[in-house]
Amino acid sequence: MNEMDDIQTQAARIEELLRAHDDILVAAHASPDGDAVGATIAMGLLLRALGKRFALYNASGLPERYRGLSTPLAFYASLAALPFRPKLVVTVDCGDPARLGPELAAALPALPSVNLDHHPDNPHYGSLANWVEPSFAAAGQLVAEIARVAGVALTGELAEALYFSLLSDTGAFAYDNTTAREFRLAAELVDNGLSPARARELLNAPWSLRKSRLWFFLFSGLTPYFDGRLLLATVRLEDFAAFGASSEDLEGLVECLRRHEGVLVAAVLHEEIPGFCKLSLRSFGSTDVRAAAARLGGGGHMHAAGATLHEPLEKALPRVLEAAGEIPELADSAA
Ligand code: 5GP
Ligand code: MN
Repeated sequence: MNEMDDIQTQAARIEELLRAHDDILVAAHASPDGDAVGATIAMGLLLRALGKRFALYNASGLPERYRGLSTPLAFYASLAALPFRPKLVVTVDCGDPARLGPELAAALPALPSVNLDHHPDNPHYGSLANWVEPSFAAAGQLVAEIARVAGVALTGELAEALYFSLLSDTGAFAYDNTTAREFRLAAELVDNGLSPARARELLNAPWSLRKSRLWFFLFSGLTPYFDGRLLLATVRLEDFAAFGASSEDLEGLVECLRRHEGVLVAAVLHEEIPGFCKLSLRSFGSTDVRAAAARLGGGGHMHAAGATLHEPLEKALPRVLEAAGEIPELADSAA
């Protein structure tokens, strides 16, 4: 079977499951990025086109910066608030069920589920079906293929959500996960009336002064490690408080750190709530950050990985540096 046939077969298998169920809950990983949000909304729009009752869920709700995305669908941040008891859960862009947030992660084993993702380390936790396609740059592409076999046109709000997914996970078609296939889907969406300029504006939400001031402070305190091959920013709760900022204001920071001369790995470690930190890792070329993230209980892609650490920043930081030290390109420079 060639690759296209395989994708069609997988998409048709998922479409059949969607058609066979009602009262469907769509969810993605907490602290959602543009792909998680775009794929969630796209799946919702597909289910609406199929005449299904459904609800969208994210443990973090819909972050402020995505509110410009035209979605008539509200996001639930609590399962207790849902208008129905789900008969099927469809997860998108979630490589680890723990990342769904504690509430849904606890409920999931008792519910029929379909797991649609593109993270290579996804453990296939869906009870009814798992479609994991690591060759896709964005999880939204799986939804596009399912819509295609279902005969649902990739137009309007659906096109916008799919394009948003693509734009976010390819770094606006710049990362090395971008292939002709991603451009082909984008071209199809543009043919169908999508405005790239409007989508780009949505993704690049306007900066607030509090974000600029927080970044200025963080840039002033940047610490290079391993002869400058690792550039790390740490953000404490009191830093957010000092500028009236939140972790949403860190969007884009780690990508910015990676652009510095001589840097192979960029990292942002921030306190989310007391005793609980999030780590973002980025790399490029042959430097792989997956193993370092996995060592800390996380995971991700070769050039973009992360972890959640259940400890205060002072304890998390030495563990992060130790895990980073195991990345061969960093260890070499320490010698
Ligand atoms: P970000 O740095 O944007 O939060 O995450 C980048 C990538 O790292 C995500 O696409 C995801 O694959 C992975 N990632 C981030 N945080 C976690 C985490 O807590 N656990 C796991 N397994 N992967 C994570
Ligand atoms: Mn993704």
